[in-house]
Amino acid sequence: MTQQPDWYTRGRRHVWLPYTQMQTVRPPLPVTSAKGVRLTLADGRELVDGISSWWATVHGYRHPHIEAAIQRQLETLPHVMLGGLAHEQAYILAERLAAMLPGDLNHVFYSDSGSVAVEVAMKMAAQFWLNQGQRRVKFLCFRGGYHGDTFATMSVCDPDEGMHSLFKGALLEQLVVDLPRNPAQEAALGELLDRHRGELAGIIVEPLVQGAGGMVFHDAFTLQALRRLADAHDLLLIFDEIFVGLARLGDDMFACRIAGVQPDIVTLSKALTGGTLPLAATIASARIYEGFLSDDPLHALMHGPTYMGNAMGCAAANASLDLFEQEPRLEQSRTIGRQLERLLAPARDLSGVRDVRVRGAIGVIQLDGTAPADLLSAACIARGVWLRPFRDILYTTPPLITNEADITQIATVMVEAVTEWSNETRG
Ligand SMILES: *Cc1c(COP(=O)(O)O)cnc(C)c1O
Repeated sequence: MTQQPDWYTRGRRHVWLPYTQMQTVRPPLPVTSAKGVRLTLADGRELVDGISSWWATVHGYRHPHIEAAIQRQLETLPHVMLGGLAHEQAYILAERLAAMLPGDLNHVFYSDSGSVAVEVAMKMAAQFWLNQGQRRVKFLCFRGGYHGDTFATMSVCDPDEGMHSLFKGALLEQLVVDLPRNPAQEAALGELLDRHRGELAGIIVEPLVQGAGGMVFHDAFTLQALRRLADAHDLLLIFDEIFVGLARLGDDMFACRIAGVQPDIVTLSKALTGGTLPLAATIASARIYEGFLSDDPLHALMHGPTYMGNAMGCAAANASLDLFEQEPRLEQSRTIGRQLERLLAPARDLSGVRDVRVRGAIGVIQLDGTAPADLLSAACIARGVWLRPFRDILYTTPPLITNEADITQIATVMVEAVTEWSNETRG
């Protein structure tokens, strides 16, 4: 490594990194700027970002339309509390989200991160029943699921997954099952729900793709089955679209629309501001919202993050929605998917590769066991691409504006990195 910037050498001892064993960590790469799909490192190298900064930077870095909106907002009203005060961008955004989401998902509660949006969804669902005098506070959730890192959201994640299994026993107790993938499994789940009648507030699921749990896909059948089960057992259905929502899957802006299933509550974040500012939303149907209307002040939704509906964040989100309207993101997402299908296919034949799969602008190479993350990541960086393998997968979720040449580079590098590892370790 060449000489590192002064801020980096001085601050490194003080910054505690996410999901990282600090004793053995490979030094993170100092980034000095970014534009489009490229990150520029302190030593002058450029990397194509194959992850969109944790799936958020869908329009690429520094899109002038979003930048201008944030700039304008900064100069008029950067932030104001939503308790008792109102501002234009939050109100416009709520109306737009309500119009985009299907049915009567019309009531938007803002927060500042995905985990909090899920906490709010869980609180909404539980209190919806409490307001009717029913104590139903547990959730049905799924193996392979991921909904955040706070305590309540950890409780609805996969219970055996490494990140959270440590806290087993300290978390809220939930009902965790496999996703139903066929009518027999739907029927079995129905019987299980019968046995837990009156305990559960709702069902929480990442629709169509379980992201941080390993990029595992399921069909619309699963979601339709969950809707049927929710209706039959009077449970609320929560779709956590924080990863899949906003064009990542290519066929529509939201997974609920792709599956033709109407949830009661939806959570959004990640791509909402195009990866510029932290913002999240929990959107409820009319029935849920009306369950909080009452003469009793204690029936109100008791939540209110300090930075909820941050004005710069909402301005960025409105600008991001403009881009979804004006530019062909869905088509780009589908095109990326077709390219990834073709370019990742050769990895299928490599020894040590269990599966190669693509859905929308998500491309996954799944290995037989835990991926050698540092080794694969270094092999990709050496070839000019930023990727961060986890669990047993090397995956890409590129910015949706990524052009054909850059997708080709990302996918080729993925296959090369896995080939190199496969040849060295598998003979
Ligand atoms: C990332 C993610 C979250 C958590 O969002 P944060 O902003 O990291 O708190 C929740 N649910 C899903 C499906 C996610 O992908």
